[in-house]
Amino acid sequence: MVSNNFEYFAPETFDEAARLLAKYRDDGKIVAGGYSLIPLMKLRLASPSVLIDIGGIDELRSITSNGGGLSVGSMATYYEISRSAAVQSAAPALAEAAGQVADVQVRNRGTIGGSLAHSDPAGDLPAVFLALGGTIVAKTRRGSREIAADRFFVDLLTTALRPTEIITEIRFPSAGARSGSAYAKFANKASHYAVAGVAALVTLGADGTVTDARVAVTGVGSKATRAKRTERILKGKEPTASVIRRASDRAAVELAGDVTDDIHASAEYREHLAKVMAENAITSAVERAGG
Ligand SMILES: Cc1cc2nc3c(=O)[nH]c(=O)nc-3n(C[C@H](O)[C@H](O)[C@H](O)COP(=O)(O)OP(=O)(O)OC[C@H]3O[C@@H](n4cnc5c(N)ncnc54)[C@H](O)[C@@H]3O)c2cc1C
Repeated sequence: MVSNNFEYFAPETFDEAARLLAKYRDDGKIVAGGYSLIPLMKLRLASPSVLIDIGGIDELRSITSNGGGLSVGSMATYYEISRSAAVQSAAPALAEAAGQVADVQVRNRGTIGGSLAHSDPAGDLPAVFLALGGTIVAKTRRGSREIAADRFFVDLLTTALRPTEIITEIRFPSAGARSGSAYAKFANKASHYAVAGVAALVTLGADGTVTDARVAVTGVGSKATRAKRTERILKGKEPTASVIRRASDRAAVELAGDVTDDIHASAEYREHLAKVMAENAITSAVERAGG
């Protein structure tokens, strides 16, 4: 199928993009890599009459880190994120997940801003964004606001982003000493979307026990979701193999009643995969934390 006709704009500044989006509102759509929006348009599941391509706005591409954390521009591609020394050092789970997205063509154009704004239930970066406790910076012509990861994903393909807001930057706080993060997924063999993917961030205290843990699951339900039961079991304990196994067994509890059952995997199989991926991700995160 082919999409409906649309007008195309390629602004070179953020101000111009924000002005266009404010002007066209619900008729307009931001296009970043285009790897989710264009397929939806070809299927006529989305029919914007105006596309605003933000690919030419260089200021949205930067990746920087300092003592306070990591800042990733919304137009940074999966390839750039996976190869960035700053990301590999400050947020290994993010580099790891970006390097596992789809194939080389998608990684070369697909962006972190597009991935989070689209909130695909099988997308990789939403789980990492949740586990690392990131923050979205969303701007309009008139101002900006920050949206914490825990408030961002609302439902299937639905986020807290307003129609005139553009994501400019994603911030990740510094994880601190003795912290480690990791991402593990069981990928669909054709698309590489997550049948089940788990991101974990673990911080260890001087005595080797877990002082903080954030774990998030993707691919299993309608949106990326924190595995809070898993986190609670880990906290305050020495992360031995049996503790990690017990915690991982609870990885899909928060998704009860919302587990996807489709041609790619049954609900029962997805729940099983969530447990296995949680065990893999938490074990790697603990190792990286020095445990
Ligand atoms: C064959 C194939 C395989 C794939 N496999 C995977 C996979 O393994 N894992 C995975 O996670 N994903 C996968 N994807 C999806 C891919 O990662 C997309 O790139 C991603 O979901 C969307 O990013 P994008 O930059 O292409 O966004 P676009 O398609 O350009 O936009 C998606 C949505 O986000 C909005 N948007 C984009 N940028 C912004 C912004 N800065 N501010 C506000 N709104 C914005 C758009 O308006 C649109 O609604 C696959 C896609 C294809 C085609």
